[in-house]
This record gives sequence, structure tokens and C-alpha cells, in this order.
Amino acid sequence: MSESCCPTSDTEDQCAVAESAAKPQVCPTCGSDGPTVDPQTVAAMTRGHLAPKQNFWLCRQAECETVYHGGQGALFSIGDMHVVPGFKTPGAEGLVCYCFMHSRGEIEQELRANGETTVPQRITAEIKAGNCACEVRNPAGRCCLGEVNKAVAMIRDGLAEIVT
Ligand SMILES: [Zn+2]
Repeated sequence: MSESCCPTSDTEDQCAVAESAAKPQVCPTCGSDGPTVDPQTVAAMTRGHLAPKQNFWLCRQAECETVYHGGQGALFSIGDMHVVPGFKTPGAEGLVCYCFMHSRGEIEQELRANGETTVPQRITAEIKAGNCACEVRNPAGRCCLGEVNKAVAMIRDGLAEIVT
């Protein structure tokens, strides 16, 4: 924290506002921008020593090693993660649901076998039963269903292209 940010102790609140209103930060490794992530999610998803509390952003670029980058310089890459995020693993083994461990390959298998997949319905049922913990299991810290539905659509399109 620089002196110019906190010239006197009674401006502490202004400091907090300034940080929470901080501009989206691009990934220092690849330069792409991504969503903010709760520090609790970063703490739950990464191995080893915790970084000091700071704003965190997620890098979703598949080619980039960096997963989380912080406003005060903290950096977590794929090797620091308990699970490899699906968006860093473009292949079939890439996870799309981290609470119930569904992968792209599983969705593709179901689509090939039945023309349909029950993965989104099964996740929805688990969510309704209160069994999910997205804030500590999903690297993005939020519900996976949007990403799962996108993955289903992409895999379905891919299979349709192979058939035609
Ligand atoms: Zn990056």
C-alpha cells in the first residue's frame, strides 16, 4: 500500500472504496481480461501458502498458465490448483462441473450414445437438493450450469459437423 494512497489514517475508508472500485485487471501473463473471483474461492482452490487478501481476477485463456492474478501482484498458475480447470484443458478430460465432477468427455459419450445428455439435469437436481458448493469447488467461484450448457451446445455442434 503506497503512502499516496493512504496519506492519513482517517482516509482508510476512501482506500477501501478505491480498491473495490478498481478497474478490471488484465492477466499479467497473457493480457486477457476476465471476471473477478472471491478471495475465499482462490484460498479454497489453491495449494500451499495463502496470498494476502486482495482483489482477484480469473484468466480463462486456455493457452495461458495463469489462473488467478491479484491486484497486489499475487499469481497462481495451473500447478497451484487442486484441480485443473476445464477451461485450461480443452480436451475430453476437461471438467465442466467441479462439484459433481462432470467432464466434456462424459457429455460427449452420452450425446454419441443417446443423442442426449442428462448431465445438466443431474447437476440441476443436485443444486435443488442443496448439494453444490460452487464458491469453493468451481475455479470461477460460481455455478457451473451456464458453462455446462455452453459445453453441451459446443459438443453437439461438433458431433453434428462430423456426421454431415
Ligand atoms: Zn492469462
